[in-house]
Amino acid sequence: MAIIMDGKDVASKVRSALKEEVTKLKQDGKILRFAVIMVGDNSASKIYIKNKSKACQEIGIEYEEYILDSNIEMKELLDLIEKLNNREDIHGILLQSPIPKHLDIDEAFRTIRPEKDVDGFNPVNVGKLCLGQDCFVACTPLGVMKLLEEYNIDVEGKNAVVIGRSNIVGKPMLQCLLNKNATVTICHSKTKNLLDITKEADIIVAAVGKEKFLKGDMIKEGAVVIDVGINRLEDGTICGDVDFESAKDKASYITPVPGGVGPMTVAMLMSNIVKASK
Ligand code: NAP
Repeated sequence: MAIIMDGKDVASKVRSALKEEVTKLKQDGKILRFAVIMVGDNSASKIYIKNKSKACQEIGIEYEEYILDSNIEMKELLDLIEKLNNREDIHGILLQSPIPKHLDIDEAFRTIRPEKDVDGFNPVNVGKLCLGQDCFVACTPLGVMKLLEEYNIDVEGKNAVVIGRSNIVGKPMLQCLLNKNATVTICHSKTKNLLDITKEADIIVAAVGKEKFLKGDMIKEGAVVIDVGINRLEDGTICGDVDFESAKDKASYITPVPGGVGPMTVAMLMSNIVKASK
């Protein structure tokens, strides 16, 4: 039976340490402020931004929320981002995705000033991550790396397999593992013989968006299994991309859903905001 990696606990420790740091900064007269922009009325996004505002409140980061109508024009969104870019009292800006299809999300991410891009989606930060330079790293992969570190799992020289190649999870995850000297394979919907690849993995990160996709018989005995997936079931519960029941008996370490990577993502966002204030 695998060791269950308690993301909730690690995230809580990260938040406590950040709270101390933010309190000290406040005593020195520095107030941290974070702005979130949401366009339209997506119910999942509402939950995500509520979690972000709660974490800010806990840590002592001032929080501003901008909810824009789904019919807005691109110019309105860009004007708001520019306004926030130019405000010295705002340290971090986040545009909650998805946004309505008529808007250009790439242009919006590009417009968020790299120094305030606490989600790590501006191409400058993405490029720096590829070059192995200091930058803002997307919060979910960053959270996975922190979790591995907390459990003393050294990735150097390991065969790591990332399933999923999205810009927000899969690709930055690949870079994070590579930057720590893992040998990384990235898989996607066109990958052939996925089973042959996952069976060789010492570390597997599942970011597919399909419930219970990775089964126990797809993993090697003793593999580290990280489940990024958040799939909402009809009964309202959530489950991951890993079939936890069958995987837990083969894996050496495994993250649960909920309580694994999810809380780490928010904690790393807070960490990025503190970093941005410096
Ligand atoms: P996404 O943009 O939908 O990407 C899914 C990826 O999975 C794509 O690259 C896709 O390949 C690949 N894929 C689909 N079917 C596959 C198959 N049969 N075999 C191999 N690869 C396959 O999703 P995402 O935004 O990366 O999110 C992934 C999951 O993580 C979702 O459940 C999401 O809710 C969750 N998530 C969690 C957090 C967190 O904080 N825990 C944060 C973000 C996302 P193609 O590129 O070829 O289509």
